[in-house]
Amino acid sequence: MRLGPFDTSRITVRSSEGGGGGGMGRAGGIGCGTLVIALIGALVFGIDPMQTIGMVEGVQQQMAPARADAASSSGARLSEEEICASSAYAEEACNALTSLNATWAATFARNRLAFEEPVLDLYRGGRVTTDGCGSATSAAGPFYCPADKGIYIDTGFYDQLAQMAGTGGDFARLYVIAHEYGHHIQNLTGLAAQVRAAQQRNPAAANRLQVAMELQADCYAGMWAGKNRNLIEPGDLEEGLKAASAIGDDTLMRNAGQRINPESFTHGTSRQRMEALRRGLEARDDAACDVFFE
Ligand SMILES: [Zn+2]
Repeated sequence: MRLGPFDTSRITVRSSEGGGGGGMGRAGGIGCGTLVIALIGALVFGIDPMQTIGMVEGVQQQMAPARADAASSSGARLSEEEICASSAYAEEACNALTSLNATWAATFARNRLAFEEPVLDLYRGGRVTTDGCGSATSAAGPFYCPADKGIYIDTGFYDQLAQMAGTGGDFARLYVIAHEYGHHIQNLTGLAAQVRAAQQRNPAAANRLQVAMELQADCYAGMWAGKNRNLIEPGDLEEGLKAASAIGDDTLMRNAGQRINPESFTHGTSRQRMEALRRGLEARDDAACDVFFE
């Protein structure tokens, strides 16, 4: 996409220093961009996180309880300008965030809903401690923390994404940040809280609800791109669909040599993810993604 330059007066960006822990453990389940939501469900409602945490953006994750004394205090703080200018990936993420904020603020205003910007944390150091969602390593992949409204991305993930999706194109990366932003939208609209409550009431449906929520985030990602279609370049769409396909649960499982087991899907199949992204891209009204995906 031909995104405009970032505007630090319109975005909130920080870069947490890594600290503690250190090792990028690969224990535990397979990571998910929304594992943090699941973890909160676990903490608040006593849901077994392993039931709701599944595949995310394709990498394995490890979570640990938050430690009040962990990290983020040492060293000089970088300004937002410095963070956004620190690498091509960072600059691209800041450009995307500027556009995402503008697009979603306008959409919320049009629908008379209160809007709040997320914080983008381009963290470094392998481990990040959130304010309310525990801590995670880079291996968790990008994720959103509803408690502090933070989108957490270690830009090193983008190199892995390029391998998984077989494309080094920008749209695959933009799709990832727009998907995490989609979880922010769900947080603002209250849908995330409703889903957690429903999962608590009916644990047997927890996985299905989780998948629906992931697909809606894909739809919101597509909707952002669709609302900026004048900025879309040839090949972007294919790139996004390719990424959506590459990080579908069934594809990830197949690539991991696992038997495909729908019960453990948490993001949807490749086909479902492509359909959700396309639904958003082709949306004709703001409510196009406000459906239950299955
Ligand atoms: Zn997600």
